[in-house]
Amino acid sequence: MITASKEGKTERPVKLTPMLQQYMDIKQQHEDAILFYRMGDFYEMFFEDAVIASKILNITLTSRNKKSDPVQVPMCGIPYHAVQNYLSKLIEAGQRVAICEQVEDPADAKGIVKRDVIRIVSPGVVTDDQLLDDKSNNYICALNLREKGKSSSCGVSFLDISTGEFLIGEYSGNGQELTDVLDQVTRLQPAELLVAQNSTSVGDTLLGEIKALLPRICITSNGGDSSGLDSVPAAREMLCDHFSVVSLDGFGCATFNEGVLAAATLLDHVRKTQKTAVGHIEKLTPIETGAILHLDEASRRNLELTQTIVGASRQGSLISILDQTCTPMGARLLKNHLLFPLQQQEKIISRLDATTYFFKNSHSRKELRALLESVYDLERLNSRMTLGSGNGRDMIALKTSLSALPQILSALKNCDTSELLDIRSRFDCLTDLYDLLEQAIAEDSPVTLREGNLIKQGYNKELDELVALQRDGKKLILELENKERSATGIAKLKVGFNRVFGYFIEVSKVHSDKVPEHYIRKQTLVNAERFITAELKEFEEKVLGAQDQRVELEYNLFVAIRDRLAASSSRLLQTANLLARLDVLLNNGEVAHRYNYRRPEINGEDVIEIVEGRHPVIERMMPSGEFVPNDVYLDQKKDEVLIITGPNMAGKSTVLRQTALIVLMAQMGCYVPAESAKIGIVDRIFTRVGAMDNLRQGQSTFMVEMSETANILNNSTERSLVILDEIGRGTSTYDGLSIAWAVAENLVNKNERGVKTLFATHYHELTELAKSHSRVRNYSIGVREWRGNIIFLHKLVKGGTSRSYGIQVAALAGVPQEVVLRAKEILKDIELGKFAKTTGGEKNPRITSKNRKHPDQLSLFSPPPDRIHELLDAISPDECSPMEALNTLYRLKELRKQ
Ligand code: ADP
Repeated sequence: MITASKEGKTERPVKLTPMLQQYMDIKQQHEDAILFYRMGDFYEMFFEDAVIASKILNITLTSRNKKSDPVQVPMCGIPYHAVQNYLSKLIEAGQRVAICEQVEDPADAKGIVKRDVIRIVSPGVVTDDQLLDDKSNNYICALNLREKGKSSSCGVSFLDISTGEFLIGEYSGNGQELTDVLDQVTRLQPAELLVAQNSTSVGDTLLGEIKALLPRICITSNGGDSSGLDSVPAAREMLCDHFSVVSLDGFGCATFNEGVLAAATLLDHVRKTQKTAVGHIEKLTPIETGAILHLDEASRRNLELTQTIVGASRQGSLISILDQTCTPMGARLLKNHLLFPLQQQEKIISRLDATTYFFKNSHSRKELRALLESVYDLERLNSRMTLGSGNGRDMIALKTSLSALPQILSALKNCDTSELLDIRSRFDCLTDLYDLLEQAIAEDSPVTLREGNLIKQGYNKELDELVALQRDGKKLILELENKERSATGIAKLKVGFNRVFGYFIEVSKVHSDKVPEHYIRKQTLVNAERFITAELKEFEEKVLGAQDQRVELEYNLFVAIRDRLAASSSRLLQTANLLARLDVLLNNGEVAHRYNYRRPEINGEDVIEIVEGRHPVIERMMPSGEFVPNDVYLDQKKDEVLIITGPNMAGKSTVLRQTALIVLMAQMGCYVPAESAKIGIVDRIFTRVGAMDNLRQGQSTFMVEMSETANILNNSTERSLVILDEIGRGTSTYDGLSIAWAVAENLVNKNERGVKTLFATHYHELTELAKSHSRVRNYSIGVREWRGNIIFLHKLVKGGTSRSYGIQVAALAGVPQEVVLRAKEILKDIELGKFAKTTGGEKNPRITSKNRKHPDQLSLFSPPPDRIHELLDAISPDECSPMEALNTLYRLKELRKQ
């Protein structure tokens, strides 16, 4: 007995049919997934699943039982041949789907047909092309948190089942571990997160942060203890078994514990949901941490590396400009380079050398790129072969890809850079696999494996015989038909076929009297009769048997070929990886050529010198030649903190971001949008960009601004690059200016050497800093005033500005003229001191005669709070006795008189 209501929620008792009982039994084991229950040519969904799916899929919700029944069983269904489209929609909506098939032939079934879940598809565990973005990895991630007193140790693992990439990381002991984990999760953006069932408060907080930053992530509970992975040694053993190694040390995982548990849990989960071997997962790779140019989540977001801040679209991001790759593997590797730029000079230079080779050798670049265009997604094709889901079309795609390999290798013959020589020396053309596919797989192989036409003629003798028999069958029918016609004298006698009776002889009723005795009557129609003969049945058995045997044999041959390909998985993956590297280097040469980029000089010095730098994205959005290039020079002797002032819309953010992007691109090993660039390698880039605050987790804009600022001040080193755009905007002028001032001072003084910083601000008072700090320089973005309006020159020039031009910008933005005129009047009054406050700014030595005109702003430099304020600060009314309160009042009165 089970209960159900119209909404699909269980409520009142319903007597279940055997079929629904079977459904409920299976559903019970897959509660967090929508169950696709196969019935004939349809997948049906029932109860709550039907309610949820019908909404997402926009299909009609019906009922399984009669309308008159007091309790309804909601249901909806989709045709099995269109499953991919519906599956995509559900996966996109963040649902998991358990696919339940009939696992016995209905003809053999006693009672209800046996059914079983053959695969679970979820956002993080998909292999179908239609569900995947070919330019991005699709990860499922597992976290394993162990709390040790106040700190914790956190293991993390990422797996892309569609390519076999398997990553591991572990963070502990420094109090930063949760931030580090969050950083990796936001960097790799998994589609699904596997979480432990028994949560802790720290774990819940971490999960909350992840959900806030990746709102579309699918959270899956790790189904409890069935894995038996309750300890690190058990997890280690399970992984060793999978990789057939005696220890994980060879993968660089010797020191990991929590990470090992996370990785083992993930592998176990994927094996269970795919219900197949996952042999293409061949190694465990520690996530790069030390040797990369580090960008935290906020900086990656602010610099719009892979998606824009507004609209989260790829269009308008840096990757959309840099990615001109020819293969999906190349596109994914390039994204990886962008998310993990390098710090090691040698590695950067070796990538740059290869880029230079292709930049200069246009012919070779074009030839290789044209060859790569015919290479499909080898990594994902390989996964499908290993997981046993590859079909005939996949094999043809694989063959086409492999056919390009010998030419690719020969086009590399003249290359001379270390990176390209390495690729060439390890290149495997996989000719044996190509030959196999060429000999065996039919060019027009269908998607299904159970209809034949998969295997080429000449590959297998037995198959050829069966095909011949089938083909000759048609001829034999004609012969038989002719023979019977002349034997009976019935000119219109026909041999026909239908599914129920098989082959039959049809004679119209007019000729019934001519039918010989050995004809056996099978069916009577209105105008005709159908017969069989012993000879016809014998013939039928031969031909129909040949058809079945052929389909069976083709299937078996196909699976055997797929298994042979799966056994070559490592070789295929190695070639895929080399092609990805080659594609990225060709891409970098192509992009440099197309957009007129230059090779940066990379060194270990403390200077960043960019001549005529441009913003790679903004320049592409403008007509050619309209972007105004700018020079930026930063070092740690004189030009360390550049204070950049200028009106809104002048181009401050642009010059800041382009500097960060140029450094980042250089450390990816790319050419850069500049006439020349010398880049002293940077360990971290921090950005704090005020204009685009987005509220997250209910924190106020100012709170977000300050926590990002705190992160910069706490973690920047003398080798970092800091980009600060409008610090302190989220609070009152005085607070904001004070904070901006103190932050700039801290950065220039930090650890004596300071931090290279570009600091854009509308507080022109900050230009004063240059007077007291020798490593601070003032810059501004040039504007020209003309008839009361301003023209933006977008040019970074030495020297600060003393004006904000806010009113002119307001006018440009279309603020009504009367408001603009009134604002001008008010400003004049303020400048003339009409609203001046008596805050005693005169005593501050840093004030110049120029900004004495701005009494409102000058109050920042008031002396420390006076004694009245000090006294007020010191009292805590809740803790005061009446007598103390009275005495304090007298004291305040006295102070006021002084
Ligand atoms: P700010 O930070 O000073 O408010 P932005 O950097 O956001 O100004 O620039 C505003 C707009 O000005 C940009 O969207 C772009 O259209 C244009 N702009 C900025 N810098 C340049 C440049 N160097 N050349 C041409 N146009 C520019």
